[in-house]
Amino acid sequence: MKPLPPGSVIGILGGGQLGRMLAMAAAELGFDVHIYTPEADSPASRVAARTTVAPFDDAEALARFASGVDVVTTEFENVPADTTRVLVAAGAIVHPNPEALAIAQDRVAEKNFFNECGIATAPFAAVDSRADLDAALKQIGAPAILKTRRLGYDGKGQARIATLAEADAAYAALGGQPAILEGFCAFEREVSIVAARTIHNGFAPYDLVENVHANGILARTLAPARVDARVRQQAAGLAYIVGDALDYAGVFAVEFFLMADGSLIANEMAPRVHNSGHWTQDACAASQFEQHIRAIADWPLASPARLCDAEMINLIGAEANEWAKYAAEPNACVHLYGKRDALPGRKMGHVTRLKR
Ligand code: AMP
Repeated sequence: MKPLPPGSVIGILGGGQLGRMLAMAAAELGFDVHIYTPEADSPASRVAARTTVAPFDDAEALARFASGVDVVTTEFENVPADTTRVLVAAGAIVHPNPEALAIAQDRVAEKNFFNECGIATAPFAAVDSRADLDAALKQIGAPAILKTRRLGYDGKGQARIATLAEADAAYAALGGQPAILEGFCAFEREVSIVAARTIHNGFAPYDLVENVHANGILARTLAPARVDARVRQQAAGLAYIVGDALDYAGVFAVEFFLMADGSLIANEMAPRVHNSGHWTQDACAASQFEQHIRAIADWPLASPARLCDAEMINLIGAEANEWAKYAAEPNACVHLYGKRDALPGRKMGHVTRLKR
């Protein structure tokens, strides 16, 4: 593939805030964006040149979409991997590739993948029945966390098991869906790395950052993470291994638990731009959104250099009503996603405070 010239059309599967920010970054580089989403009036569609509103399994709509775009990408990891396979079969270039998406969609496949790459994870076992849960608890012990294998995000589809007596309740909470039991990691901090890779092995990692969650949702990111250089370098090395093993093009994130002994335990990877990379919009030479567009358009990657330290806070639900307060802060950059209803737990926007 030659670098895509400006004026080309970038197709994005998904219409949420990540698609919206990708579309704005693509426009900055002279591209047109075509959003494909099942959702009418989506945040991304309101900043894009074109939108197709159709289900992800509508073969006809997908074929039309494939013929009208020059490259396709995804803005959330639960776009069915089969949707991307249909697009590839229709002749579209799709980044990230369907296999990378499929691995990230299944927590068991994802953990096996990490281990095959030599990257440590919490001990885990697949749980397909109540009897499997007992066997897994015998092997892993408590405390542990039972998670759905698929479609979990922002702490949804998870049940903690502090003692063996809680096994029944946890199993019932997940409604018998295929699951994974993970040993509980008593981490010191949660950190993540966002990196870009091109199919020609170009690699540009951003600084490792530190994340604080509340109710399973990212609340705050500190850039850079308060860790020593050895941990930072190790995380970048592991991200390189992940991108290389997936033959990846685009931006991705790897979330880790930082343990008291300084070791990193991989929790999950996201085959897309990531909430913990939003600070790059205001504090880096090039944002993760621009970097993703460059990577999938086969342009050279920009510098991921951090220009200043930053703190990003998410505006969840009604917190977004405080926008005027944040807008009045001299070093705060306000980003709002244009969502119509501030439902509880819904990501409505974020604020990046520059520390200079
Ligand atoms: P996840 O959906 O896997 O990102 O999990 C959401 C949050 O639950 C993580 O950010 C952690 O705070 C916590 N968590 C998940 N898995 C574990 C684990 N194995 N040990 C300890 N905490 C965990």
